[in-house]
Amino acid sequence: MNTPDSILNILDAWSDPGRDVHRLATLLFPICRSITGNGVRDTLDILARHIPLTPYEVPSGTQVFDWTVPPEWNIRDAYIKDHTGRKLVDFQQSNLHVLGYSTPVHGTFSREDLLPHLITLPEQPEAIPYRTSYYNRTWGFCLPHRLAESLGPGPFEVHIDADFNDHGSLTYGECLLPGASQDEILISTHICHPSLANDNCAGLATACLLAHHLQGHTLPLSVRFLFIPGTIGAITWLARNEAHARNHIRHGIVLSCIGDPAPPVYKRSRQGNAPVDQTLAYVLNQLHPDAHRIEPFSPYGYDERQFCSPGFNLPVGLLMRSKYGEFPQYHNSLDNLDFITPAAIQQTIRILVHALHALLENRVMVNQLPNCEPQLGKRGLYSAIGGDKDRYQKQMAMLWLLNQSDGAQSLLDIAETSGIAFPILVQTARLLQEHGLLQPAHSTHPDR
Ligand code: ZN
Repeated sequence: MNTPDSILNILDAWSDPGRDVHRLATLLFPICRSITGNGVRDTLDILARHIPLTPYEVPSGTQVFDWTVPPEWNIRDAYIKDHTGRKLVDFQQSNLHVLGYSTPVHGTFSREDLLPHLITLPEQPEAIPYRTSYYNRTWGFCLPHRLAESLGPGPFEVHIDADFNDHGSLTYGECLLPGASQDEILISTHICHPSLANDNCAGLATACLLAHHLQGHTLPLSVRFLFIPGTIGAITWLARNEAHARNHIRHGIVLSCIGDPAPPVYKRSRQGNAPVDQTLAYVLNQLHPDAHRIEPFSPYGYDERQFCSPGFNLPVGLLMRSKYGEFPQYHNSLDNLDFITPAAIQQTIRILVHALHALLENRVMVNQLPNCEPQLGKRGLYSAIGGDKDRYQKQMAMLWLLNQSDGAQSLLDIAETSGIAFPILVQTARLLQEHGLLQPAHSTHPDR
C-alpha cells in the first residue's frame, strides 16, 4: 500500500523500535540532568550519535521574556553519613536523592536541624521523591520515608558538592530535518529531569530515534526536534526564535511520559481544533479506538504551556500515555526502567509516525471534472487499482475523493467522513492527480 517515499514505510523498515528506544532510554537514565549543567550536555552527546544535533549554549543571565537564564548548576557528589561514617543517603546510588539546584553544604547536623531539609513521600514510603528548587536557594535531600524514620538521633555529616556558575549557560539541542518547505512540524521534549524513565528518558529516546528514521525521506514540511529543559528552555528557545516560530511552526507535538503501558492521551492545543488536534484525534481513533483519551487544553503540563501562551498561540498539543501528576510513579524513583515497556513505546512510535504522515500529506484537492462523475473505466482507473485486498476500499476512495474534493474538504476531512483510511486516500488521490482528475487546491487552474 505504501508508496516508496511514504514515511509509513518507517514502520516496516524498523524491526523493533520498542527495544531500540528502551535501550537508548537505558543509556540516558543514569545521567544526572537538570535545567542546566553537564548532564544535559552528556545527554545531547549520546543523542548526537544517532542524529545531526546542534547544541546551543545560552549564557546565564540572559533575559528571555519575563525570565532570566539561571546560573549553571553542577553536582559531583552528596551524602548523609551517620556518626560511624556509614553513608545513609548516597547521591551515587540515586541522583534523585539531592534536591535539584541545591546549594553546596558541608557540616555536622543534629537530627532536629537536618529534618527540615529532608523530603519524603509518607504515602509511598519506599520511593525517593524527585524535587527541585531552581529559583529559591536552599539545599535538601530526598529519600524514602521509611529511611528517614530510621535515621536515628545523629549527629550526621551532611555533604553536597555542587556549584553555581554565573558565567555558565543553559544548554539545549536541535535537530532540523529540512523539507521542501521552510514551514515546519515541531517535536519538542524536555531534557531536564534526572533518573526518571518515563519522564522523560522515553520521550528523549523516542524523539531521537524517530528523527533518525525520518532522515532520508522526502518531507513536504521541515521537521524540527527540540531537546530542551522544561519551562526555561522552551521560553529561551521561543525568545531566540520568536519570528521563526510565529511564521513557520505549522504543527507541533510535545512528548512527555510516552513509554508506560497506560493508553495514550492527547491534550489539545490552545486553539482546540488546529490541524494537529484533528490529526491526533483521528490517528488515536484509528489505532486505539477503544483505549485513548483526548483532553481539552489547560495551562498546566509541559512546554505546550509556553508554545500555547497567548502571544504565540501556536498549534502545539501534548502526547502522553500516563498523564503528569496522575500516576503513582510520577516524579519519584518508581518511574524506573521497568515502568516503561518496549511494547508501549512501539505503540507510541506507531501513533507518531501515522500522525506525522497525516500532517505531512494532508491537503485540499479539487475535482477537475465536477459535473457528474467522470468516467473512470475509460481512463483505466479500475484496473489501475489492481486486484489486491484493498480493491473495494480504493474504488470507494476514488468516489469519495471525487465527490468531496470541492476545494473545502481536506483529505483528512474526507477520511473522517468516509471512514476510509487516510493512507489509502493519499495514495488514491495521487493516482487521480496523475490522471488529471484532481489538483491540489492552490495550483488549480483559475479558468476551470
Ligand atoms: Zn516531570
